[in-house]
Amino acid sequence: MKETIVFATGNEGKMREIRLILADLGMEILSMKDAGVNPEINENGKSFGENAEIKAMAVWKETGGIVLADDSGLVVDYLGGEPGILSARYLGEDTSYAVKNQVIIDRLAEAEGEERAARFVCNIAAVLPDGRVIHTEETMEGQIARIPAGEGGFGYDPILYLPQWNKTSAELSIEEKNQISHRGKALQAVKDKLMALYREKKE
Ligand code: IMP
Repeated sequence: MKETIVFATGNEGKMREIRLILADLGMEILSMKDAGVNPEINENGKSFGENAEIKAMAVWKETGGIVLADDSGLVVDYLGGEPGILSARYLGEDTSYAVKNQVIIDRLAEAEGEERAARFVCNIAAVLPDGRVIHTEETMEGQIARIPAGEGGFGYDPILYLPQWNKTSAELSIEEKNQISHRGKALQAVKDKLMALYREKKE
């Protein structure tokens, strides 16, 4: 029987990206909806890794098998790491990203050069059929822009300026972003780890 992987997200955009990157694992990739589970998840961890593991474990307890979950956010050095793990809830869940982004730019009004360093971080937790957990964590490094730019992406993309591209993350195409993004790289890394584990098992 074909192995299945459940990805603990309700976000269809994320599922498309995940299916694309994990396609050559040769496993069936299911969302929580596809797997028919919807556990209560209390994201009260203190790091991206803890939150990813909380989500993956909550689903694994219902499905078993292989379960993946991610947790991500924007880390701004000048703000002591804020918004960090609270990125989605920063200034309130219902506050628009136009407002969240402008508040961050205003809070960095006095910051110059290296002081503007910021990054997206993504941690992926994978629970294996025997309950062991592995993690991968990757970043996309940049600086907080002085003005938002770009229509692509979502969330904080318009304010993360990537010096080597001379563009914000919102000005990249989806394909470009997937290649260099925190989530794209963390997914690639978890795929490599799963491939190595399953190759070992078959040998
Ligand atoms: P979650 O990992 O789905 O909980 O997302 C956390 C939050 O981090 C999102 O709601 C966004 O605010 C922010 N975030 C994570 N990844 C990105 C990205 O690639 N672009 C812009 N914002 C992001």
